[in-house]
Amino acid sequence: MDGFEGNDGVILVAATNRPDVLDPALLRPGRFDRRVVVDRPDVKGREGILKVHTRTIPMSDDVDLSVVARGTPGFAGADLANLVNEAALAAARVDKKKVDMVDFNYAKDKVLMGAERKSMVMSDEEKRVTAYHEGGHALIASFEEHTDPLHKVTIIPRGRALGLTQQLPLEDKYTYSKEYIEAELAVMMGGRLAEEVCIGRITTGASNDFEKATEMAKRMVCEWGMSELGPMSFGRPEGEVFLGRDFSRQPDYSEDTARKIDDEVNRIVVASYQRGKKIIIEHRAALEEIAKVLLEKESLDGEEIYAIIKRITGHEVAKRPPVKPEPPKPTAPATAATRADEGLAPATGSLVPVPV
Ligand code: ZN
Repeated sequence: MDGFEGNDGVILVAATNRPDVLDPALLRPGRFDRRVVVDRPDVKGREGILKVHTRTIPMSDDVDLSVVARGTPGFAGADLANLVNEAALAAARVDKKKVDMVDFNYAKDKVLMGAERKSMVMSDEEKRVTAYHEGGHALIASFEEHTDPLHKVTIIPRGRALGLTQQLPLEDKYTYSKEYIEAELAVMMGGRLAEEVCIGRITTGASNDFEKATEMAKRMVCEWGMSELGPMSFGRPEGEVFLGRDFSRQPDYSEDTARKIDDEVNRIVVASYQRGKKIIIEHRAALEEIAKVLLEKESLDGEEIYAIIKRITGHEVAKRPPVKPEPPKPTAPATAATRADEGLAPATGSLVPVPV
């Protein structure tokens, strides 16, 4: 960057996905005039990206890209490109002349949850346990008020997972409330709880749930000030570390505080377990029915789960999955500052298929 006169008319543009390990010399005042944070696209951005990628693809009239954009919160540009590609492949596989909405829905599930592995052989008992496990997640997600709506529950193995319960937020989220996090924690406990209560035998299937829950509880205490230790930040957030200097960071708190943090994390996780347990025990009949129908049909969408719950318990779930077209809501443009404060990563509509 040396050697240019102030009036040379040279514009230098650079991009990085590791701003945290840039040489501070590069960031001195006057080196770069503008810093543009490119975050995941919001709903308008996703629609625009979809338009670009579908330009050369013959599309049926029923495809509404604004609906696809609304149903894909958290998708980055590459995910959307992948989604369009998968939809086109799905259409081509059955010799369709045009890509329609069915293909887009199929592609969304594939990108969100990984490809189905229908060839994988599971024993009947394993299937039964998985149906209860996923049913448990789905039941709590339906009864907890502050969770994201259910998108799909399946016991068809996808990727590394034996079954999946997928929730999708109704709109783009940049911050998360304590109520939301606590409710999601309870949902994570749902799998193990269903095994425990309905089958009376626990399996290793919940390991990933516990890992995520513990991680989230830790962030509640250490980053978000959402615990009884008060509005404090403990230690540096680890962020996305895969190289660079972040490894050697020392915790900036005493051993005594470390013990308190452990206790607090433990308290939060156990509380969410108890909270989930109440729902599972109270609505066990609905859970039994969900598991039964899951075993028959293997995949259920959110509406179908809600219908079962209504039939068995009379409870009407108010949250609806983001599939129906609705008038676009004005989304407040998030500033770089609010985005940097973003709560959970990955969000629930995470693109990493995780075994649940
Ligand atoms: Zn699970």
